[in-house]
Amino acid sequence: MTGIDDLPIRDELRGKSPYGAPQLDVPVRLNTNENPYPLPEPLVARIAERVAEAARNLNRYPDRDAVELRTGLARYLSRTAGLEVGVAQVWAANGSNEVLQQLLQTFGGPGRTAIGFEPSYSMHALISRGTGTGWISGPRNADFTIDVDAARKAIAEQRPDVVFITSPNNPTGTAVGAETVLALHDAAQDARADTAGALVVVDEAYGEFSHRPSLLPLIEGRPRLVLSRTMSKAFGAAGLRLGYLAADPAVVDAVQLVRLPYHLSAITQATALAALEHTDTLLGYVEALKAERDRLVSELRTIGCQVTDSDANFVQFGRFEDAHAAWQGLLDRGVLVRDNGVPGWLRVTAGTPAENDAFLDAVRELMKEKSA
Ligand SMILES: *Cc1c(COP(=O)(O)O)cnc(C)c1O
Repeated sequence: MTGIDDLPIRDELRGKSPYGAPQLDVPVRLNTNENPYPLPEPLVARIAERVAEAARNLNRYPDRDAVELRTGLARYLSRTAGLEVGVAQVWAANGSNEVLQQLLQTFGGPGRTAIGFEPSYSMHALISRGTGTGWISGPRNADFTIDVDAARKAIAEQRPDVVFITSPNNPTGTAVGAETVLALHDAAQDARADTAGALVVVDEAYGEFSHRPSLLPLIEGRPRLVLSRTMSKAFGAAGLRLGYLAADPAVVDAVQLVRLPYHLSAITQATALAALEHTDTLLGYVEALKAERDRLVSELRTIGCQVTDSDANFVQFGRFEDAHAAWQGLLDRGVLVRDNGVPGWLRVTAGTPAENDAFLDAVRELMKEKSA
């Protein structure tokens, strides 16, 4: 039988595994940070209308520049994130993963490097590898905040072309302050002062769930700072595949050099536009999830778990001598959480109140068993 390694694949892909959380069929699935609420029926009906309209023109290529959608996204950011944003500052793609890939194709690539502060979103390293960009694993403090001095030092020594800052961070839930972003941004520009500087990508996939305001205003006057967002989490539309960035118009112009023509289908654009029409309802679900997230944090602490403060729609909890055994123990009780490979810790996504109750009951049983 032919295996992957018998094929003439690139050397850096040999022996590697694809990204993927187990998609197991269990009663309570709290492992991929999805929004537990299905889209409301009026929105489903509006999507059907908008998609039918788009279907009448499917013999034509879609709007390559997705101007109507980008205008809607710019309006949403302007309304919610504390800065007036124009359509020229916004770009959209199939999930923020594609946005990140386009950024790495443009600003990373062979002979270049990207740094992230781990544990963090593993796709940053994987997309770097996929685009031939070298990956540098930067440090964090024991409490999972970014160690600013150590990060500055790593940037000065390694001189990366791209810096990833995830806020709130996945899988820890930790938000990053504006002063930290600015310190790392300035360190990255200093380190690359001999060139045109370095690109700093703030991945704000969970921005809407944070106790803190968006970091979006930091892009003003900083053409090398990019903010990335997604409709997968707060908008409850992971199946849609729609991510976007906000940055200086020059960054939007630059990614045009690598984006595939007509990358965003007319169906995707129509569906995302329908979702934007229902922003207020969807943000109402976000408020409910934030309350559930805060309840998970306090109840897990009452049970006796250690919990990392969370600004996201998930919670990192522990500490377990054997996190994988604890993961299995919860799965045996019908609850699927995520083992991100952070020693001692697991991650649970905030679900519906009933799902969260089932999860908390399972943890209580597990802890009782442990102390028995
Ligand atoms: C979920 C997630 C994304 C979203 O990816 P999409 O491709 O938009 O679904 C991006 N960044 C982080 C840190 C995430 O956790």
